[in-house]
Amino acid sequence: MQKELGVFTFNDLLHHFPFRHIDKTKITAIGNLNPEEEYVQCIGVLNSFEVIGAKQGRRLLSSVQDKTGSLELVWFQSISTIQKMISPGSIYLMYGKLSYFLGKPQIVHPEMEIWHPEKVAGRDSLEPVYPSTEKLKARGLGGRQIGKLTAVLLMHVKENDIPENLPQNIVEELKLMPRFDAFTQIHFPKSTAKYEAAVRRLKFEEIFFAQLRMNLLRSQRHRFSKGVVFDKVGDHFNKFYKEHLPFELTSAQKRVLKEIRTDTARGRQMNRLLQGDVGSGKTIVALLCMLLAVDNGFQAVMMAPTEILARQHFQTVSALLSSLDLNVAILTGSTKARERKKILEGLADGSIPVLLGTHAVIEDPVQFKNLGLVIIDEQHRFGVAQRAKLWEKAALPPHVLVMTATPIPRTLAMTAYGDLDYSVIDELPPGRKPIQTVHRYDHDRSAVMDFLKAEIEKGRQVYIIFPLIEESDKLDYENLMRGYDEIKTYFPEPQYWISMVHGRQPAMQKETNMQRFVEHDTQLMVSTTVIEVGVNVPNASVMVIESSEKFGLSQLHQLRGRVGRGAEKSYCILLTGKKLGRDARERMKIMTSTNNGFEIAEKDLELRGPGDIEGTKQSGILNFKLANIINDRAMVDVAKKICEEILTDDPDLSQLRHQRLKDFLQSQKGKTAWSKIS
Ligand code: ADP
Ligand code: MG
Repeated sequence: MQKELGVFTFNDLLHHFPFRHIDKTKITAIGNLNPEEEYVQCIGVLNSFEVIGAKQGRRLLSSVQDKTGSLELVWFQSISTIQKMISPGSIYLMYGKLSYFLGKPQIVHPEMEIWHPEKVAGRDSLEPVYPSTEKLKARGLGGRQIGKLTAVLLMHVKENDIPENLPQNIVEELKLMPRFDAFTQIHFPKSTAKYEAAVRRLKFEEIFFAQLRMNLLRSQRHRFSKGVVFDKVGDHFNKFYKEHLPFELTSAQKRVLKEIRTDTARGRQMNRLLQGDVGSGKTIVALLCMLLAVDNGFQAVMMAPTEILARQHFQTVSALLSSLDLNVAILTGSTKARERKKILEGLADGSIPVLLGTHAVIEDPVQFKNLGLVIIDEQHRFGVAQRAKLWEKAALPPHVLVMTATPIPRTLAMTAYGDLDYSVIDELPPGRKPIQTVHRYDHDRSAVMDFLKAEIEKGRQVYIIFPLIEESDKLDYENLMRGYDEIKTYFPEPQYWISMVHGRQPAMQKETNMQRFVEHDTQLMVSTTVIEVGVNVPNASVMVIESSEKFGLSQLHQLRGRVGRGAEKSYCILLTGKKLGRDARERMKIMTSTNNGFEIAEKDLELRGPGDIEGTKQSGILNFKLANIINDRAMVDVAKKICEEILTDDPDLSQLRHQRLKDFLQSQKGKTAWSKIS
């Protein structure tokens, strides 16, 4: 029970909720049975047995009768035991799943017991059925046996053992079932209505305390954390902003920049999530923030999840900063030892103010003179532990800006990352033409290839992406190679040149192949999803995604975001096999109907549920037992509002009316992963 279900204590058992109930509170007259009912309970006189059929088809047949009709009973197993145990002619109470055979009602493997009128009268609650596992079932601890344990437990717990943990006024205002009742009624409800009320109460509790914990963390950080102060806008920032900014910032970019400036100027540590759809222009915001840090005498680093992306950031940033007298370095896993040594020295003595790189930048040997800002691009690839490493890099913790292009719906973001502050770039730079997305089947391939040729003819470049199927690196590789060979037959050298990038290549080779594409040496880029994140080649205007059905929505959207970055009209072609499942078909429909990342994220969430959304898995915060952040969104909003009101008024929960909250939080300490989230 412990290992299998994570149930260790009585408290765990109380929280091991049933997934359905059996209603044995009512008895149906056989004549009134109807196909709408799933599980039924009847009383009747048992008729004689008959064994029919042979081998697999061998079965025991009987029937029961009441005044209104007759119900057939069937057993396929334990035939002789059953014949011994129950006796025709007696009155039985039986329960089971109702089915119809040749128009007649029947129950297969009914539960049966001799009818005692006084016993039936005592059944006044629904009977719970619990999730169990095969192993436990084999040991006699199936879903219903667990119910027996729980029943015994509930007989012994008193109201004091499950004290109310919400302030009385909230319980009353929201008409919540009291906590003790809720635990009783969720297991053994007197009625469906009571069960629903119990679930509502316990869901609210789950959501509410999750919010409260995170809001507390955030407000404590706001009040007590000390952070480096970026209070002046200096020469680098001004010079760049006035003379070298290649375009006017969108108002969303300006707003976000202001939010960050305010946040970093007040002497507390910033911990901020910046969301912006692919192509919304997060890099320039990051760059300006780094200049802000530098102008205030601090070093800044920006980490990317892949080598390719880190190099691209490095190129973008060093090109933009070339006219400022600033030392910009890049550190990755493949930086050569000599170069590395030089960089480490420059970071330690402060002569390198701006560093870009992969997670190599937070490895142990890297010491900064005075690190003030860390920007993490595409954060979902970075684990919590890696982020924690940052704290060791400076006396005062540096400001942290986490950037992600995997849009998470706002409610979800606020719940999953409620301990972070939140900024969003919700506007694309002007002049972007929407990417035209189409869905094509494999057998249209040659028409698709002709289209690519025409686009290449116009001077455009093309991405062709193959999926990673994770389980098998070898299969992925073979799949890609087969694809590459086929593409080559359509696009032979020397008329066409193809870059290929995949996970098995050494970093240098990936880099060279990528670089050739960036420089328009090659017209086609054939790749696995290694290019998914961040690369920017404005002249590439066509994205072909092979086996699109194998990708999730947010991944498809990310990939599509690689095109549509230049002035030309861009296309995304989703290739799939002929046979598509319902979900895959739905994904294609969504992709071809919208370009909006937030809208797609919402749909993704509906299709897959919150547990699977990238960037939330590791947060562990959405592992609610009862609540579902999508379906219970309204409740999330209510809980959030109440939390905010409470904490604004009483940030330490020190008022008497909030004592219950404080006690409950204290009793939960160490049970959750909250403390581990940076
Ligand atoms: P992402 O948010 O996906 O990281 P990038 O920062 O790579 O997006 O920006 C995408 C493209 O948009 C880049 O080519 C960048 O130069 C350009 N860009 C960013 N901001 C603006 C703007 N305000 N006006 C015009 N182009 C912009
Ligand atoms: Mg980016």
